[in-house]
Amino acid sequence: MATVISGLKGIKTVRDFELEGKVVFLRLDLNVPMENGKITDQNRIVASLPTIKYCMEKGAKLVLASHLGRPKTKDDKEFSLEPVAKALQEHLDAEVILIEEPDSDAPVHLLPSLKKNQLLLLENVRFEEGETQDSNEFAQKIANYADIYINDAFGASHRAHATIHALPMIMKEKGIGLLIEKEINMLDSLLQNPKRPYIAVMGGSKVSDKIAVIERLMDVVDGFIIGGAMAYTFLKAQGHPVGKSLVEKDKVKYAKEMIERIQARDKTILFPVDHVATKSIKDTENAHTTKDVVIAEDEMAVDIGPQTIRNFSAALKAAGTIFWNGPMGVFETPAFSKGTFSIAKAIAESEAIKIVGGGDSAAAAEASGFAGQMTHISTGGGASLEYLQGDKLPGLEVLRVRIR
Ligand code: ADP
Ligand code: MG
Repeated sequence: MATVISGLKGIKTVRDFELEGKVVFLRLDLNVPMENGKITDQNRIVASLPTIKYCMEKGAKLVLASHLGRPKTKDDKEFSLEPVAKALQEHLDAEVILIEEPDSDAPVHLLPSLKKNQLLLLENVRFEEGETQDSNEFAQKIANYADIYINDAFGASHRAHATIHALPMIMKEKGIGLLIEKEINMLDSLLQNPKRPYIAVMGGSKVSDKIAVIERLMDVVDGFIIGGAMAYTFLKAQGHPVGKSLVEKDKVKYAKEMIERIQARDKTILFPVDHVATKSIKDTENAHTTKDVVIAEDEMAVDIGPQTIRNFSAALKAAGTIFWNGPMGVFETPAFSKGTFSIAKAIAESEAIKIVGGGDSAAAAEASGFAGQMTHISTGGGASLEYLQGDKLPGLEVLRVRIR
């Protein structure tokens, strides 16, 4: 086993700085889902509060920033952070002043007289086209008034954008917030000395999205549980009839080799033995449970079946560590959500350290009602998978300044 190296080696945290009277630029991930101008899930806002509060308590002058969605122009007002500013104001019991142009000089003028219970929030940084271009010019505008740069936007740290990458490149004082610190420590616990047995529950739509993660985890876990659409590429590789289920044809051979390599390492790998099948994803009426692993030619599997739920749940019961990425079925449709929610329940009820990664998996955990019983649900879908598969996150790498 490789020596233990923390993913945070050489990176300062917000606790390492003297904050009193300093201007702290705090990059957050406040990219919350919205419908008709209303925030439908405040998780990312709530997860950002500890670092904001810490900075406020220590007497920092705060400039907060985040992206929201993918606006095309500055006038895409549906991507305004205004509702987020309101929500923050309520959570913090402080005045949040929204700066309309993210590259504006307004902070330079407002900061000297900022009161203790006031903070600045830049409008959606993606309103400024320099953001996604990792622009030095945009970064310099911010560097002109910021003393300390803190990144707590875990969900955006896999992107080399200006407020994630170009800005800390030119800042001398820089580090991470409390959320990223927790995220990385949690993900590191999945790679280094995990409590055994360690089971990875993988599902979701595509094998190709998850190959790198499975490859990395193959040497660390004791077993895999495979469900969701990706299971059908594996079942096909084993010669089972999968009907019209989602299969990535160009990955079948690879899936076959993968099973062999996992078994050669003496690790277990469980697949669905029955399914909820129907004619199409929209057809809830003709949905039924198959009697075994076979899926009819004109049908597709949209969820795992009851025997599979029992098998998977039994395997999870004795686990010491569980990593869950990928729903077991089309959980967004209530008729096809039972498999995913039952597995969420089995994970919640096990005594294991249980960590959920992936955007849809986090949503599924929430929808299942068992989110509160998980050890950790990552706020960064793509970022958590990229980190686990061993990729370097640009937003983290740029912060490594010292050896500790
Ligand atoms: P995550 O975001 O957690 O990494 P993915 O994006 O890989 O997860 O997969 C989530 C999607 O997979 C969900 O939208 C779900 O509907 C879909 N899915 C799961 N099982 C199936 C299936 N059997 N057939 C079609 N789609 C599926
Ligand atoms: Mg997804």
